[in-house]
Amino acid sequence: MGKFKLKLSFLIVSMAIIVVLAASSISIWSSYLNFNEILQENKKDMKETYVKEVSTITTDYLQGSVKDDRSLEPYMEQIVDTLLDEGAISFSLLIKKTIIHIIIVVVVVLGLAIWLAKKITRPLKDLATRIEIGETLQGTEDITDWYYEVKLLKSNVQNMMICSESKITDLTEQLNLDALTGIPNRRRMDQTLHELIVQKVPHAIILIDLDDFKSINDTYGHTVGDEVLKAFANHMQSSIKDQGLCFRYGGEEFMVILPSMNIDAAVQLAENLRIKQALQETACGRPVTMSAGITAFTPNVQSPNQLIEIADHALYKAKQSGRNCLCVVRNMRQMIIK
Ligand code: GH3
Ligand code: MG
Ligand code: MG
Repeated sequence: MGKFKLKLSFLIVSMAIIVVLAASSISIWSSYLNFNEILQENKKDMKETYVKEVSTITTDYLQGSVKDDRSLEPYMEQIVDTLLDEGAISFSLLIKKTIIHIIIVVVVVLGLAIWLAKKITRPLKDLATRIEIGETLQGTEDITDWYYEVKLLKSNVQNMMICSESKITDLTEQLNLDALTGIPNRRRMDQTLHELIVQKVPHAIILIDLDDFKSINDTYGHTVGDEVLKAFANHMQSSIKDQGLCFRYGGEEFMVILPSMNIDAAVQLAENLRIKQALQETACGRPVTMSAGITAFTPNVQSPNQLIEIADHALYKAKQSGRNCLCVVRNMRQMIIK
């Protein structure tokens, strides 16, 4: 047998039946008691009236004011009328006797209905408020889901929250990734550099530019150019491994950030990459070389742009020096490495 589910419809119908049955039973019972009480009082009054009236007629009869049997008839009719009049229970008396009990029953039933309505709507209101204020999954845990529908709604809302949280994480992740190469993009690069500079973490940077890339596009087409870019990104990442972080700076330009690495180690790393890249097989079938500008953080560097500008200037110098080479800026002095 399936697990019992306390459904709202079942709850409302059963509560309504219980309330109606209880209210009508109490009303019938109290009306019966009051009606009985009224009848008892009437019986007493009728008895007294009957005795009084009959004794008056009997006295008159004995004194001779009533002459024969037939003349008794109007008197008797009068007595019966009086008794019947007394016997009829007035409507206002009935209402007076029962109204108090009816009011009590109505107030109790109304109170119960308000309490139940609040208990039913409270979890729905709580859920709506939590969604409105953008509450997290944990924030919805304490909502009492005491009947089936709200249990279902709560679990669906929680599933939606999990789903949207993971979608937001995915989208944020994608926002920081380059669509073509799949490596972190410039946006992520700026954030990383900014954090390192603000926290004054020593680091070196390598700004890389592929040489004569325009001619690759022009000769072999843009699609081949794309493949060359993707392959270079892979090569760069596998060469740097966990020594640093690789980014696509834009176009055919890339950046390597090397936290806690001195400039000499950075130069060594860049030189290895340059030599390997020059020997690497490419999608266009001819070597694609790289040039790079290298520099390192010094305490007078205030912003990512300041550091990038120095590396960019060094890169420019490397290009001017014939490409497929590195230019290092160390203590504001430039040095070309071929
Ligand atoms: P240099 O050695 O001076 O850097 O010359 P270069 O040809 O590499 O530099 P230039 O700035 O003249 O050209 C860069 C080229 O890179 C031009 C542009 O079409 C190409 N490029 C930029 N982004 C992409 C891309 O995503 N895919 C492809 N296929 N080509 C790109
Ligand atoms: Mg360029
Ligand atoms: Mg280039």
